Amino acid sequence: MTAQRRFPLVKRGGELVKAVIALTCGHASDEGRYYVAESYVRCIELAGGIPLLIPPLEDECDLQHLLESADGLLLPGGVDIDPIHFGEEPLDGLGRVEPHWDRLELRAARLALASDLPVLGICRGAQVLNVAAGGSLYQDIASQMKGQCLQHRQKAPRWYGTHSIKIEPNSVLAEILEMQTARVNSHHHQAVKTPAPGFKVAASSSDGIIECIESENHRFACGVQWHPELMVGHYPEQMEIFRRLVRCAEEGK
Ligand code: MN
Repeated sequence: MTAQRRFPLVKRGGELVKAVIALTCGHASDEGRYYVAESYVRCIELAGGIPLLIPPLEDECDLQHLLESADGLLLPGGVDIDPIHFGEEPLDGLGRVEPHWDRLELRAARLALASDLPVLGICRGAQVLNVAAGGSLYQDIASQMKGQCLQHRQKAPRWYGTHSIKIEPNSVLAEILEMQTARVNSHHHQAVKTPAPGFKVAASSSDGIIECIESENHRFACGVQWHPELMVGHYPEQMEIFRRLVRCAEEGK
């Protein structure tokens, strides 16, 4: 006897046209909680995709199975990345790390890159993408950067673009935002140090911090150091970043 589907899939014109975007959950292991900020979920929905929340999983095959049923991947912001993943010992300025969260996202990013699944990394997510592809990070920019740093942990409202970035003219980011410079918010103390092989710098701030990386070998693999999901209400062009992810995901269906 075949199982009956209780809730038939909602289809448009006979075809399921919406892209499913996998969104990794954060982990607060001390509190026994997985979590995700609603702004990421809303932005995926507003861009026309269906968010699929993925928690840390024990079995790597389960993660692969879930990602195979997704059309794109969004790696959100969060805590620091354990420097063991780029071959360094922890420096004093390193913040909280979550081993299971790192493991989930590094695996997810590598699976996405291997199968050319469109992937967008935001803040920590951009750093995860870079490390997954073989790049390195500043564990703490203020103590590691030579010379004076801008304020990258802003005290202004979370959505407000406090520092500017210069966008590389021939980058995917320039095509998405249709801008050569932009104001972005800044809620980070880690950053990409060495971009991974096959990735290029698409934007940086005036102190030399890399604010966007993108792959030259994938349909769409991009990491932004700022938080577009917090900016979209005041800077509508930032929604184009999510639209690009969802459009690429739809094209790959
Ligand atoms: Mn910044």
